Amino acid sequence: MKHRVDLELGQHRRLGNHIEQVKKLFLDRVELLFDAGHRILDYPGNCGVPHGHTYKAELMLSSQALDDMGFVLDFTELKAGVGNWVNEHWDHGFLLNDRDQELLTALKSLKRSKIFLFNNENPTAEVIAKHLFGVVSQQYGSLVSRVRIWESPNQYAEYFKASD
Ligand SMILES: [Zn+2]
Repeated sequence: MKHRVDLELGQHRRLGNHIEQVKKLFLDRVELLFDAGHRILDYPGNCGVPHGHTYKAELMLSSQALDDMGFVLDFTELKAGVGNWVNEHWDHGFLLNDRDQELLTALKSLKRSKIFLFNNENPTAEVIAKHLFGVVSQQYGSLVSRVRIWESPNQYAEYFKASD
C-alpha cells in the first residue's frame, strides 16, 4: 500500500519489485539561430551539393537546485556566452568535413570566406549538435543536458545526456 501512495505522489517509480526514486529537475531552454552552409561529403542525394540552412540550436540545461537568484542559469548569460561562440565560428560560415578538399580549396580561393572544419566528420545536424554540446559543456559543465539542432522546420537531431 505504501508503494501505491508513493506512486500517487509521483515521487517513486516501480520497476518490478524495485522502487526507485524519481529525480526532479529544473530545465532551462534557449534558442539560437544561425545561417551556415555545408554539404555531406560523398552523399549521392541533394545534401551532397553545397547549400545552406538557417539552423536553430536549442540548448537545454538542467539542475536539481537553483542558484541564489533562482535560476538554473541566467538566460542572458547563456545566450550571450554561447551566442558569441556561434556567431564567431558558425554564423555565415561553411561547415565542412576536413576531408572535403574540393570545397575547401574552392572556398579558400575566395576573397572572403568563413570556414569551420570538423575532424573527419560530416557536418550533419547530429555532428553539429554533438560539437555544440561540447562547447556549451566547456562553459557550463554538467548543467548541460541536451542540445538540439534544427536543420529545417520539420527535422532536428540532438545530443543528450542519457541519464536524464
Ligand atoms: Zn543541409
